[in-house]
Amino acid sequence: MKIIVCVKQVPSSNEVRLDPVRKTIIRDSSEAVINPFDVTAAEAAVQIREKLGGTVTALSMGIPASERLLRDEIARGADNAVLLTDRAFAGADTLATSYTLSKAIEDLGGADLILCGKMATDGDTAQIGPELASWLNLPCVTDVSALLEVTEKQIICRRNTDAGAETVNVSLPAVLTIVKNLTTPRLPSIEGIRRSLKADLKILDAKGLGADPARIGLDGSPTQVIRTFPQQEKGEAVPFEKSEAASEVKKLWEEL
Ligand SMILES: Cc1cc2nc3c(=O)[nH]c(=O)nc-3n(C[C@H](O)[C@H](O)[C@H](O)COP(=O)(O)OP(=O)(O)OC[C@H]3O[C@@H](n4cnc5c(N)ncnc54)[C@H](O)[C@@H]3O)c2cc1C
Repeated sequence: MKIIVCVKQVPSSNEVRLDPVRKTIIRDSSEAVINPFDVTAAEAAVQIREKLGGTVTALSMGIPASERLLRDEIARGADNAVLLTDRAFAGADTLATSYTLSKAIEDLGGADLILCGKMATDGDTAQIGPELASWLNLPCVTDVSALLEVTEKQIICRRNTDAGAETVNVSLPAVLTIVKNLTTPRLPSIEGIRRSLKADLKILDAKGLGADPARIGLDGSPTQVIRTFPQQEKGEAVPFEKSEAASEVKKLWEEL
């Protein structure tokens, strides 16, 4: 089974900084981590490979420093990794991001299974998985909470819905987006860390990918963020029992 897992670098939780001019997230940080949903998706991919054989490739579009995070995925069991990095990719919205990832998947000769996280903790749109499936003309199952049966030809899985949950049977190849608690990610092994340090990552720029320049980066993004602003401090929190609302409720209660 050939599995590609899409992993995104996100700022660590206390460290989101925005570019005031481009209205994009600044992604130069040494504190960056792999999107937690993607760590779970990568673990699911490794578990499937351990059962059925094949390969797991971690794929990311990001800054050159994302290489460190891709090596971490190799240390956790991925066989190899591909980094798409080029100034021309910067400022991409979900359409340009999913287009770029789809070109890389085509460049890799496609896959039997493509796993994404359900959402990224910074952009938060949950659009990449479904858009990727659309570019590749594949079926997509979102919000997958359990893999009940995985074979070379199909996957039976459980997914969350607005009304609760449902069981879906999907033929492969397909794209699945994975919730964070589907499984528990393993820690990097010593053998994995050694392998990750020696691994040759495939690094591609826009030209190497053969991407249409009109579809990538800020210029290829129909979504433009008009304004961003930091959350305003609202002052110290007041315990409910000491609030004005609580004394009003108490007064009304006593009047009853
Ligand atoms: C403040 C702000 C607002 C924004 N608003 C919008 C908006 O309204 N519309 C819009 O189109 N874009 C918007 N963006 C841009 C959006 O964050 C980027 O397009 C981002 O690259 C992908 O979207 P996401 O983070 O929401 O991914 P999601 O769709 O939430 O991510 C789902 C999964 O896709 C995969 N994935 C996502 N990005 C990558 C990557 N670079 N490499 C590998 N795998 C990846 C991962 O598996 C991830 O778990 C906004 C950005 C900012 C900073």
